[in-house]
Amino acid sequence: MIQELQLRVLPPIAADTDQLRRYVADEKGLVLSALKGVRILKRSIDARQRTIFVNLKVRLYINELPSDDEYVRTDYPDVSAARAVIVVGAGPGGLFAALRLIELGLRPIVLERGKDVHERKKDLAAISRTQQVDPESNYCFGEGGAGAYSDGKLYTRSKKRGNIEKILNVFCQHGASTAILADAHPHIGTDRLPKVIEAMRQTILNSGGEVHFQTKMTELLLDGDRVVGCVAGGKEFRGPVILATGHSARDVYRYLVKEKVELEAKGIAVGVRLEHPARLIDQIQYHRKEGRGQWLPAAEYAFVTQVEGRGVYSFCMCPGGFVIPAATGPEQVVVNGMSPANRGTQWSNSGMVVELRPEDVEGDDALRLLRYQEELERACWQQANMKQTAPAQRMADFVGGKLSYDLPRSSFAPGLVSSPLHFWMPKPIVTRLQQGFRTFGRQARGFLTNDAVMIGVETRTSSPVRILRNNETLQHVRIQGLFPCGEGAGYAGGIVSAGVDGERCAEMCAEELGVGS
Ligand SMILES: Cc1cc2nc3c(=O)[nH]c(=O)nc-3n(C[C@H](O)[C@H](O)[C@H](O)COP(=O)(O)OP(=O)(O)OC[C@H]3O[C@@H](n4cnc5c(N)ncnc54)[C@H](O)[C@@H]3O)c2cc1C
Repeated sequence: MIQELQLRVLPPIAADTDQLRRYVADEKGLVLSALKGVRILKRSIDARQRTIFVNLKVRLYINELPSDDEYVRTDYPDVSAARAVIVVGAGPGGLFAALRLIELGLRPIVLERGKDVHERKKDLAAISRTQQVDPESNYCFGEGGAGAYSDGKLYTRSKKRGNIEKILNVFCQHGASTAILADAHPHIGTDRLPKVIEAMRQTILNSGGEVHFQTKMTELLLDGDRVVGCVAGGKEFRGPVILATGHSARDVYRYLVKEKVELEAKGIAVGVRLEHPARLIDQIQYHRKEGRGQWLPAAEYAFVTQVEGRGVYSFCMCPGGFVIPAATGPEQVVVNGMSPANRGTQWSNSGMVVELRPEDVEGDDALRLLRYQEELERACWQQANMKQTAPAQRMADFVGGKLSYDLPRSSFAPGLVSSPLHFWMPKPIVTRLQQGFRTFGRQARGFLTNDAVMIGVETRTSSPVRILRNNETLQHVRIQGLFPCGEGAGYAGGIVSAGVDGERCAEMCAEELGVGS
């Protein structure tokens, strides 16, 4: 017999399968041997009170063995003889588009400017060693896209549960832990993501699709108002194009503007990475001196407030993680965050950003927010002595408008230089961040502290541009056969939503070609 049950238990019970089984058997008045298995379906931590509980939804297997179907498998048929569709970009948008095309009986040809996820790792390590960024292989470009070396957080504010479950199940089928199906805030971890991405590539290849690395798309092939293919790596590829090039492919945006492909400026958020000792965040969030202890994960936080009509908020929080250099070219310093599966480092970081709307930036052209990002990243690079070291300031010093004479230890591998961020960052960002930090410090005692360091600058929070597409067909508003997709097109923010958008673009492309269901 199978039964489902909601439970509220202490962390040690939730963390240990044997203890949990005994607890459930007691609760249900069952002999232990009759309870063959307990599977956790949903898990969330309730740390609002002094005593911390874990809320669980569990499935009980009473007098029967647990089934093997921990996730829903997708079948990928052989499409080697099917019609080709070009997918530009192998980030989550492009990879999920490619896998969905296969399901629908189409043959994806994936073109990626960067290297495979394994080779890419060497270029990431070189950033700290040489202080140089390879413009084709970095934290944003290469197999797996911007999401490959990230926290791999898989939660999204999107409400389309069915689509989200599908993305999580596909990740499980390619090697992610099935815990992502249960956790309220699932994440894979930067140490596990590359293997999952390699497995996704293998599925594409095994089904007869193609994946080309170091093959940058430089031109769309147009027949009037219809895309019939593209040029990449000096070769022509024929077919409709799903364009999933991410928020950092500035050359793609500039090419589209030059070709008069309609796009518009889109709001972004800019600010800094804020890094605290993980132990301090654990103490604040779990309301106890010993912090997370043995059974709880590194604590998360989320802050949001309004200052002078604009949102100020924490973004992409990485408990027990690292701050990383996320520039994609020369004369830029950009930071972001990631964390390993165990979230076990000594630091917890998040983006602390201020909303920036198109009307906040002078001009009326589509690329003005992109230029704003570029100018700020360049100013940051100049402050960083023209290297990948990042300018930084202690948090309370920033709020008080004081230079930091020294800086705390940090996870940021290229190194930090002390810099008066309050002085050279744009005033509307500085004053809102200062006010926001005061508010957050009141909401969480101990959060506003000089033990935390702000690292500049966080600018790649989302796309500064939206490529205009038809809401129904997902094709560009004028150019047929062109499917602007994922975060770079302005229709997603994060791994899961980019994956969902990739699947939708594949479906609309199949519909346009009269294929699949
Ligand atoms: C360090 C970091 C940490 C992050 N952490 C998280 C997280 O924990 N959770 C989360 O949900 N989101 C996270 N994000 C954001 C997330 O990675 C993105 O939202 C997501 O990857 C967007 O997917 P995408 O496929 O639309 O674009 P991208 O992932 O940006 O992929 C675009 C791909 O296109 C390729 N490309 C660009 N131009 C061309 C061209 N001309 N020809 C061929 N290929 C091209 C790029 O090389 C890249 O591989 C993080 C981002 C970064 C940088």
